[in-house]
Amino acid sequence: MSEIVNHLSRIRATLPAGMTLVAVSKTHPAEMIRQAYEAGQRLFGESRPQELREKYELLPKDIEWHMIGHLQTNKIKYIAPFVAMIQSVDSARLAEAIQKEALKCNRVIDILLEIHVAREETKTGWNLDELRDYLASNPFAALPNLRVRGVMGIATNTDDETVVRHDFEALRRCFELLRPQFGEAFDTLSMGMSHDYLLAVDCGSTMVRVGSSIFGERDYSK
Ligand SMILES: *Cc1c(COP(=O)(O)O)cnc(C)c1O
Repeated sequence: MSEIVNHLSRIRATLPAGMTLVAVSKTHPAEMIRQAYEAGQRLFGESRPQELREKYELLPKDIEWHMIGHLQTNKIKYIAPFVAMIQSVDSARLAEAIQKEALKCNRVIDILLEIHVAREETKTGWNLDELRDYLASNPFAALPNLRVRGVMGIATNTDDETVVRHDFEALRRCFELLRPQFGEAFDTLSMGMSHDYLLAVDCGSTMVRVGSSIFGERDYSK
C-alpha cells in the first residue's frame, strides 16, 4: 500500500462518523491526488486558483474541489464553473465578486465565511463585528447565487493547546451565532488541520482540512 493510502486510512480511523475530511493537496502533483482518489477520497482542498483549475482538468470529474486559500477577485473565473465550495470568503467585496461569476456560469456556489480568530495578524478572515455589521445591512439574500453553508477558520499556530482550544471555541460560537440568519443549509464548521484536527473535532468541527499528514511536507519552491 502506498504511504498516502496508509495515512488516509489512519486519519479516517480517528474521525467520528459523519465528519467530513478535506484532503488538502495544494502543491502536490495530480498523481498523488489520484492515489488518494483510488483509496476512495473524493473531496480535495487547494489554495491557488490556477493550480486548482489545472488539477480539475487532469483528474476525474466526480472529485469535489474546495478552494481554501485566499482568493483574489480577478481569479474567481478560473474556478467558478466547477468549484464545489469556496471556504475562504473573507470580505464583502469577494462575496459580491463571486456572486457575479456564479451568475455568469448559471450556478449557485456554496461558500463558507472565513472568520479571523488566530492571534497572528497575518491570517485572513472577517472580524466578527464587521461581519455582523455587513450582514445587518446587506443580507446575503441579495447574493442569490451564493449559498452560505457555514464558517471556516484557522487557529493560532502554536503548541499551546489552551490557545488553540480557545480559538476553536471562538469559531464554534461564531457558527452558533450566525446560524439563525441562514437556516437549514448552514451546517458546516470547517476547522482543524494536520497538527490540531483532533482538538478541533473535540470542539465541534464538522469538517477537517488535512494536508501534510496525508501527502507529506509541502515544497513551496516548486
Ligand atoms: C494548507 C492548509 C491546510 C492544511 O494544512 P496541513 O497543516 O498541511 O494539514 C488547511 N487549511 C488551510 C486553510 C490551508 O491553507
